[in-house]
Amino acid sequence: MKKIGILGSTGSIGTQTLDIVRNNPDLQVVALAAGSNAELMEKQIREFKPSFCVMFSEKAAEDLKIRVSDLPVKVSCGMEGLLELAILPEMEVLVTAIVGMIGLRPTIAAIEKGKTIALANKETLVTAGHIIMPLAKKMGVPILPVDSEHSAIFQSLNGEKKERISKILLTASGGPFRGRKREELTDITVEDALKHPNWSMGRKITVDSSTLVNKGLEVIEAKWLFEVEPEQIEVVVHPQSIIHSMVEYVDGAVMAQLGMPDMKLPIQYALFYPDRRPMHEKRVDFFELASMTFEKPDTDTFKGLAMAYEALKAGGSMPTVYNAANEKAVSLFLDKKIKFLEIYDLIQGAMENHKVIKAPSVEEILTAEQEAYDYISDVRRRS
Ligand code: NAD
Ligand code: MG
Repeated sequence: MKKIGILGSTGSIGTQTLDIVRNNPDLQVVALAAGSNAELMEKQIREFKPSFCVMFSEKAAEDLKIRVSDLPVKVSCGMEGLLELAILPEMEVLVTAIVGMIGLRPTIAAIEKGKTIALANKETLVTAGHIIMPLAKKMGVPILPVDSEHSAIFQSLNGEKKERISKILLTASGGPFRGRKREELTDITVEDALKHPNWSMGRKITVDSSTLVNKGLEVIEAKWLFEVEPEQIEVVVHPQSIIHSMVEYVDGAVMAQLGMPDMKLPIQYALFYPDRRPMHEKRVDFFELASMTFEKPDTDTFKGLAMAYEALKAGGSMPTVYNAANEKAVSLFLDKKIKFLEIYDLIQGAMENHKVIKAPSVEEILTAEQEAYDYISDVRRRS
């Protein structure tokens, strides 16, 4: 029996992780955490019977306590609750499927206690790769990627020596606005941005896919996970999303992992690595697919990707600012308070405004995050 905990159980990755638990009786859920959806959390508790549960919102936690008062489950709230969940003695694997930087501290706490990390939350490595990777090494803790591209790279590296990597080819669908120019993006609505051509995901990451910030975050994540230089990571637009990423080796051989665009495969792979379990989902039909195409990303229009390379080059706390400014800007866009292209302006402004701290501590990362938020509030107050 493998005992797992899920941070972000009510979200897109969280609920798909629970689908996998449903199909694999040797997985046991011992802990669940989410933001504020007490109703769904109650259902999950009744079905999966965890012993510990966290609602980040205090109000939702109070509501949940009443809903599950007939069950032997402890309910907690806030960051304290997330940190308590992260170190639960019986938990072996923590699936980090929370959205945003809030996942950072619980992930560090879990690694410190030797928990295996199935990592979906990309903000963790983007902001603190220099802390997480050495810590995981020191503790002998595997960081197993859940993000489909990183899982594909991980699978393509199976049994190969890292020194033999020539480059990583990170694939991108290009998002819903692929092919458009900047002037065609001025009046993009929230509804437009939430229509992803291939993947069904949470709202924030769906917007990030349309700006290519998601790909930018993935480039930074790949640098840390696979210990490669930024110049060794090339983004390839592949609109069919069948090749989930590739690795080119020094002899020119390219290894790729292909499959349908379905997060259940990478989630399941992380949960059972190095084993492969049967999965009864739709398979790639190459005759139906007929062709696969590839393009260079348009980084002049979709500046989110170019800015990620700039943040990587600046290093230290700059990727945190890139990420935090994006989090804030996307939330303003989703609330219809700013226009689509202003997301780029706010990220760029926050990055220009920031003085890089080399190898920031967790405290300094959180301060850089707050600075980026304050910068955006200031800009908006002045406009
Ligand atoms: P989502 O918005 O669907 O779900 C987010 C989850 O986090 C929810 O359960 C929510 O309740 C919880 N949450 C939010 N704030 C919280 C807080 N303060 N405390 C506790 N829980 C909180 O997001 P998602 O699409 O599932 O993405 C989750 C993470 O996985 C993100 O970092 C995303 O970049 C990454 N990811 C997602 C996909 C995908 O296909 N959805 C693919 C690759 C990576
Ligand atoms: Mg991805």
